[in-house]
Amino acid sequence: MSIDSHTIEVSGITVEVVRKQIKNLHLGVYPPDGRVRVATPMRLSDEAVRLAVVSRLGWIRRERANMQQQPRESQREYISGESHYFQGRRYRLRVITRCNSQKVEIVGKRWLCLCVKKGADRAQREKVLERWYREELKRSVAELIAKWEPLLGVNVSACGIKKMKTKWGSCNIEERRIWINLELAKKPVHSLEYIVVHEMVHLLEKHHNERFKALMDKFLPQWRIYKAELGKSPLGHQEWQNQK
Ligand SMILES: [Zn+2]
Repeated sequence: MSIDSHTIEVSGITVEVVRKQIKNLHLGVYPPDGRVRVATPMRLSDEAVRLAVVSRLGWIRRERANMQQQPRESQREYISGESHYFQGRRYRLRVITRCNSQKVEIVGKRWLCLCVKKGADRAQREKVLERWYREELKRSVAELIAKWEPLLGVNVSACGIKKMKTKWGSCNIEERRIWINLELAKKPVHSLEYIVVHEMVHLLEKHHNERFKALMDKFLPQWRIYKAELGKSPLGHQEWQNQK
């Protein structure tokens, strides 16, 4: 199926227009920044789309205002005393600056010790912490994939960690490759497991249809709770299929 996608401007709002073989026009506003997207039947002109958007401008503006009020991660300085999250738990950062090796260690129940070289600036401290998050997440994801492969009867060929602005995860079905958002290192393990299972279920069912939901119900009955929980986080899970 070919998909035609382009953007139009309506009252100062950029609207992504996607024409598909569907019956009705669907208008959506998506987190985190209120991107507006219209899926429309092939026969509708841009002018008709424009009118549909104008008629719902009030609703679009309210949705966007709500999203802007969502909690956002504040800018971090990577200094002692700051709060940082790992696997859903909050830790206080302790920066130790006379280390030979750069590393991160959890000490006791509440301390995240960041060892850096003397004089390490903010960017360097951030890099050390991020590398640690990436390694920890990679290991957790590998364990979860190994756990779920026999349960789901699927095989994942590769999995990677990357920073994504609008998605918690994605799946390339043809290559059986899964991508996981680095931010999930900070979330509870059950949130990570939900995303991993979601992406792996795509190897059984491409679309978010009834069959997909039935599979999720069967394998991870609590998935709706985990999804809602992640939805309240600063980053919303956006459907992977919008991507090319
Ligand atoms: Zn999906």
